[in-house]
Amino acid sequence: MRIAVTGGAGYIGSHVALALLQEGHEVIIIDNLSNSSALSLQRISLLAGRSAVFYQTDIRDSEALRRILRQHQVEALLHFAGLKSVGASVSDPLSYYDNNVQGSLRLLQVLQELDLRQLIFSSSATVYGPQQAAPFAEDAALAPSNPYGHSKLMVEQMLRDLCAADARWRVAILRYFNPAGAHPSGLIGEVPRGIPNNLMPYALGVLSGRYPQLRIFGQDYPTPDGTGVRDYIHVMDLSSGHVAALRQLQHRAGCHVFNLGTGRPYSVLDVVDAFQKVSGRALPYVLLPRRPGDVAASYADPRLAEQALAWRAERSLEMMCADAWNFTEHNPDGY
Ligand code: NAD
Ligand code: UDP
Repeated sequence: MRIAVTGGAGYIGSHVALALLQEGHEVIIIDNLSNSSALSLQRISLLAGRSAVFYQTDIRDSEALRRILRQHQVEALLHFAGLKSVGASVSDPLSYYDNNVQGSLRLLQVLQELDLRQLIFSSSATVYGPQQAAPFAEDAALAPSNPYGHSKLMVEQMLRDLCAADARWRVAILRYFNPAGAHPSGLIGEVPRGIPNNLMPYALGVLSGRYPQLRIFGQDYPTPDGTGVRDYIHVMDLSSGHVAALRQLQHRAGCHVFNLGTGRPYSVLDVVDAFQKVSGRALPYVLLPRRPGDVAASYADPRLAEQALAWRAERSLEMMCADAWNFTEHNPDGY
């Protein structure tokens, strides 16, 4: 198939673009490089043995989008482009509504105009309400608690409304839990810009000596060791989940929502242990009070994706930590 990938130079998009190339698809990447480097695209070419076509374009530029999608006669689109920092969305909400909501709206308008009605959208477990108890199934109540989560839920709603209005749409909304890890080659992975807020990239910064210690936020949660638990999922499993969702869309019209997670909760201290084991280094940490806005536990009920997509996340926490550390060691300054 001819598949467009918005945000394909970024962390998750680059892994999925590689998987699509390896499946034999023609891949057209559209990314404004606001949070990524075109060097990731060279790495993808090296790994796949062939290249994706790349356009440095903003998804809000409808004219350019129309031209690209038409020129390549694109048949399906995977939509990763957007901003993803919860903290930044609280301090600058309008940029989130502009990039994530307005950007997606413009994109959908162009897709509709071109009769291109096959789409996979990157949503997030952050759409689930904090008052819900994990594990979260897809039909759990939705109540995001920050502008980033609201922006994801707004796009989900647009997609549900579109599918209700026109039965020709084929849409998969994928709610990722906590993506982690890197391609096992160490050639592509996550390159955080600035000081990371998330556990995995911060812990990698400590392991590589950039930060003196990990700050563990909260030791009194109602969890087995008192630290917060999350559903970390290897980015390679996430990639195969997208390939499975694309395959499923060939047979089923309508709007389908799937959690992409392992269903296995791991604590912050489990992550610390795994990193120490795979790196052979100490990961110093300090226990601090809870971080405002954090929930005790977030993990998926992954059964729907397992049944409907015949897909399951297989890689362990240790593999995520080993592959992430391998990428960081080989690319200490990013790409
Ligand atoms: P990323 O920042 O590495 O990738 C996003 C890419 O989109 C970047 O390359 C960026 O340059 C590009 N981009 C941003 N705004 C754009 C615009 N207006 N036009 C064109 N390109 C634009 O992030 P990621 O971790 O790969 O996340 C991909 C998607 O998955 C995002 O939509 C994110 O919200 C979602 N998601 C990520 C996580 C996570 O923890 N990484 C969790 C849940 C959902
Ligand atoms: N966390 C931590 N120190 C950090 C970053 C995160 O202790 O520097 C904890 C956080 O409180 C949560 C878990 O690690 O329990 C995962 O946090 P992250 O921000 O990576 O993901 P999210 O909370 O968005 O699921």
